[in-house]
Amino acid sequence: MSADATQTAAPTVKPGRLWIGGAYVDAEGGRTFDVLNPATEEVITTCASASPADVDKAVKAAQAAFPAWAKMSPLDRQRILWNIGERLMARVDEIATAETMTNGKPIFESKFIDTPDAAKCFQYYAGWCTKITGQTIPLSTGPFLNYTRREPLGVVGAIVAWNFPLLLASWKVAPALAAGNTVVLKPAEFTPLSALLLAECAKEAGLPDGVLNVIPGKGSIAGQALVEHPGVAKIAFTGSTEVGKGILRTAANDVKKVTMELGGKSANIVFADCDVEAAVRGAATGIFYGKGEICAAGSRLLVERAIYDTVVAKLKERAEKTPVGDPMHPKTRLGAIVREGQMNRVLDYIGKGKGEGATLVAGGERQPVGGKGWFVQATVFAGVTNQMTIAREEIFGPVLAVIPFDNEEDAIAIANDSVYGLAAGLWTRDIKRGHRVAHRLEAGTVWVNAYNRYDTATPFGGYKESGFGRDMGPEALDGYLQTKSVWIDLSEDKA
Ligand code: NDP
Repeated sequence: MSADATQTAAPTVKPGRLWIGGAYVDAEGGRTFDVLNPATEEVITTCASASPADVDKAVKAAQAAFPAWAKMSPLDRQRILWNIGERLMARVDEIATAETMTNGKPIFESKFIDTPDAAKCFQYYAGWCTKITGQTIPLSTGPFLNYTRREPLGVVGAIVAWNFPLLLASWKVAPALAAGNTVVLKPAEFTPLSALLLAECAKEAGLPDGVLNVIPGKGSIAGQALVEHPGVAKIAFTGSTEVGKGILRTAANDVKKVTMELGGKSANIVFADCDVEAAVRGAATGIFYGKGEICAAGSRLLVERAIYDTVVAKLKERAEKTPVGDPMHPKTRLGAIVREGQMNRVLDYIGKGKGEGATLVAGGERQPVGGKGWFVQATVFAGVTNQMTIAREEIFGPVLAVIPFDNEEDAIAIANDSVYGLAAGLWTRDIKRGHRVAHRLEAGTVWVNAYNRYDTATPFGGYKESGFGRDMGPEALDGYLQTKSVWIDLSEDKA
């Protein structure tokens, strides 16, 4: 059950270095770490590993670049951001290759979805550069002209996860730059290369040196140093809830601003009155796209009892028709899990599902491709209750837990019974029910008769322990701006 048992010959990628002040530099002491290909288990290159001293250099470069960047005319900033999108698309093959070879995701996703979406993100925020305005406010306290200015924060520290390395970085870097901030970006250790290519593209697009700096390295060293650095005004974080909580505690020391895009355990609800074929297709995309390594994955599928058996049978068929395959092959739709440790974590959860009494109906095994790689089959569990571990904890793999429900109230109660609240989906032909249920779900995004759809123009972020603040849309800009109220006394001079 593999899309293509033969691994295609892997292209080479160049080693990663730190990007500080508009140029590549080595890390202090020449420290590096290995970059692996999850599909072959091989070291494909090395990357410089930033120390706290390197982080300090990057923050100083960003501080030095800040005044000129913040003062640059909005039209000039707009032009540069737009051009970053153009440069990303001009280098799409190289970027997608680096992304797929480090993350294990199908080249179809990195070439036709992630990189184009990252380019669109820069071009969307390019449009905002000229539209960041304050207000004039009528006061009742006396003859004053009062107006507000929306000002950048300074240096933004962006820390992102490995599942959508370029896209998650773009969701933070683009609005931060549009608002006039400078950025130090720490990509995940497993996937540092696309962030460096983004920095190269930004330079080619005319971004002044020091406005965007990239410091690959370990979260516990480089990430921690960035969060602790007094020169950083804000941390924009995407990652696990556990690490997010630690960052919140550290950021409290100097009251850094923070936004948190954290984990999820999203419910996708299938009502009996829906288009069953569409719902099953959506349910499969909701969990198998991106290998299920998606914060918003529809990992809990709630199915109304009347159609439960039919849906489970169709899901089994779909899972079995979604084979793992060489991520570099254009037809592959289920790639390799990012690391051996993550694969073992996914397999442990599959073991817990079986142990707690759920019925394995598809997949459930590791399946190397051409004898190599950290691949896990598309997996479906039926007979799941919302109390089982596989329904409560984020697995971050292609594992679907199918839970039956009796009626609308029951579905909403089960969906909301989670510490997370990132996203949700629901499938129905009843338009009133669609809106009614969407309004009652505790989630930052709700898809009706769709799943896993994104657009830079609409905000994305969590309720409850899935975080706060938003990526994308006009709302993301709020996280990179602060408001100043200016008072001008208009009273006449007394003689
Ligand atoms: P982690 O929280 O382990 O890591 C995220 C980032 O934080 C990485 O760059 C990591 O570096 C860094 N980091 C780790 N420790 C620290 C620290 N002490 N101080 C500062 N930075 C640190 O998450 P994963 O990379 O494992 O990503 C998976 C998680 O991300 C899932 O929970 C998923 O739901 C969530 N996520 C949320 C999204 C959302 O929009 N809500 C979107 C995508 C993912 P290093 O790689 O070196 O460890």
